[in-house]
This record gives sequence, C-alpha cells and structure tokens, in this order.
Amino acid sequence: MKNIPSIKRSTTQLKDLAALRQAYQGWSNAPDPLTKLTRRLSTSLSLETQLGILAEEMASIIPFDSLSYRHQIAQRDFVYVTGMGGPHRCEYRLNLEGVCYGTLTLNRRHKFSDDELQGIEMLISAAICPLRNACQFITIEQAALTDALTSIPNKRALDEHLQRASLLSDRHGEEYSLILCDLDHFKAVNDQHGHVVGDHLLRLTAEAIERAIRNSDSVYRFGGEEFAVLLPHTGEQEARDVADRVRNAVANIRVDCGGTELSVTISCGVARHLAEEVANQWITRADEALYRAKDQGRNCTKVFASIG
Ligand code: GH3
Ligand code: MG
Ligand code: MG
Repeated sequence: MKNIPSIKRSTTQLKDLAALRQAYQGWSNAPDPLTKLTRRLSTSLSLETQLGILAEEMASIIPFDSLSYRHQIAQRDFVYVTGMGGPHRCEYRLNLEGVCYGTLTLNRRHKFSDDELQGIEMLISAAICPLRNACQFITIEQAALTDALTSIPNKRALDEHLQRASLLSDRHGEEYSLILCDLDHFKAVNDQHGHVVGDHLLRLTAEAIERAIRNSDSVYRFGGEEFAVLLPHTGEQEARDVADRVRNAVANIRVDCGGTELSVTISCGVARHLAEEVANQWITRADEALYRAKDQGRNCTKVFASIG
C-alpha cells in the first residue's frame, strides 16, 4: 500500500481558503443581482428557460411591459415573448465575438431613463455568454437529429417521434400511420453512375417526398436509401394514398447523366399504429409490408392489414 503524504497547508493557502469560504457565503446567501442572474442562468441550457430567468431578474430591477427575443437558429425562427405592448422600446442585438445571438426588445408605456438603459445593458452583458451557450446547444441538438446529406430529420428523430406518437395514440386514441420507403435497385444506380449521382438522387428523393406529403406529416431518412413518413390522424387507406403519391413523385424525378435521363422508383410499406404497440413493433410491421412490396415486383405499396 502506498503511503499517503501528509498535506501541509501554507499560510497563503489557508488565507485563500478563508476568502473562498467567505465569498461562497456571500454568493449563496445574498448574491448581488448579476451573480444571482448568472447563477440562475447556469442551471439550464434551455434558451426558453434562460429567457424566462432573464425576464424575471430584469423585471425585479427595471420594470417593463413586454420582453421579446428573436433569433434564427438552425434554419428556424426562435421567438420568445413575455408580457404585452408599450409604445416605448429599447432594442439590443446580442453580439459576442463578432457573432449575433439574437435581438432582445423591451417595451414599456413610459420612456426608459438613461440609468435604466445602462442597467439593462449590464444585465444583458452578464447574460450573453449563457444565452450564446443555449443557442449553440439548440444548433448541436438539431444537428444530432438531422441527416447531413438530405437535411431532413434522421432515424434518431424518427425514433423519438414514433415513441411520442405511440404514447399519444394509446392515451388519446389518435390514429397514426407509418410509411417505410426504399429506393428500388439503388445499388445499381451507384454502380453505374457513381456515388455522387447516387447522393444527388437521395437529396432529390427527400425533396420529392417532402413535396408529396401534407404539412402535418413528416419525412425522415431512415437509413441508406430508405425513408420513413409519419402521418398523424391518418388511417391505413389514407396512408396508402399518400404512399402512392410519394411513389409517383419519386418516379417523376429525372437526373441528366450526360445525355441519358436517369429515373428511379421506390417501394412502400404501410402500417397503422396498433393499441399498446411499441415503436419497434410498429416499424417491424411496416418493414414486413415493405418486404412484400419488394417481393411483389417493387414500385408498389403494400399495407400491413390490421383488424378493427
Ligand atoms: P432493393 O430494390 O432490393 O432495395 O435493391 P437496392 O439495390 O436498393 O438495395 P441494397 O440493399 O442491395 O443496396 C442499397 C444501396 O444503397 C447500396 C448502397 O451503396 C446505397 N446507399 C446507401 N446509402 C447511400 C448513400 O448515402 N449514398 C449513396 N450514393 N448510396 C447509398
Ligand atoms: Mg434498403
Ligand atoms: Mg433499396
């Protein structure tokens, strides 16, 4: 067994520790407004929660009628609003190291004084690093759920959404259907025309499926040349119609390959969610229907018929 060396503390170390203890008491018992704000902000990486905290801490020092925040994150508009109206406003672009992390606007019935404006700026300065982290967290979270080639949601996103759909279906009796789609003979496309053309076709396929479905439906890249469509409030027959629309849309894609026009087809398997069924069982049934579509000649839709 090793001997544990005795720790001799120097006087400076002891002083530092005493100062730390005192600072900790001040920090935890009666923090100043900026410490309190940053400490609260550090408890969450959710941008919405952080803006709520900022609004609360700001309101306790500088009253306002409304606070709003806008930012484009991961190609989406993020909007947060609390309170209502007021003709006077002050607006700040949240810039950090040359990057903008959104615009924060405060509105009020009466004018903001210079002192108040300074106070607001101090609070925003203290909040900007945590807000930047929350924005970056959304970007990273979004990237983890997005397919890099086609920019549509990936299998991980599908798994999450299927689980939620299964729960909603069981709890509220909502009808959900799933379509699994697989490009036909896609290996031959790669073999004959190369992966660059193959990749291009995958992107065009994702776009074609997106255009063929409704706004309430969502498309995912399920695997290599496989896609999935989740359809809320949709039964088997309606889902079959959507699958046929998807097939037609994909069959209409044309890629110019130096004089010859390349086209592809896709096979679809449909399964409606059944009571008490977990996501994996649901996918397995859609996959079985897809297997039948492949087996029966491809470029067709097969439904896993459910009873009742
Ligand atoms: P089937 O009609 O039975 O589905 O035949 P298939 O050739 O489409 O199926 P198979 O499973 O034999 O081959 C799938 C092909 O999809 C092989 C693979 O190279 C291609 N693929 C998978 N992911 C990608 C990708 O990201 N880019 C490209 N270009 N091709 C991909
Ligand atoms: Mg496949
Ligand atoms: Mg295939």
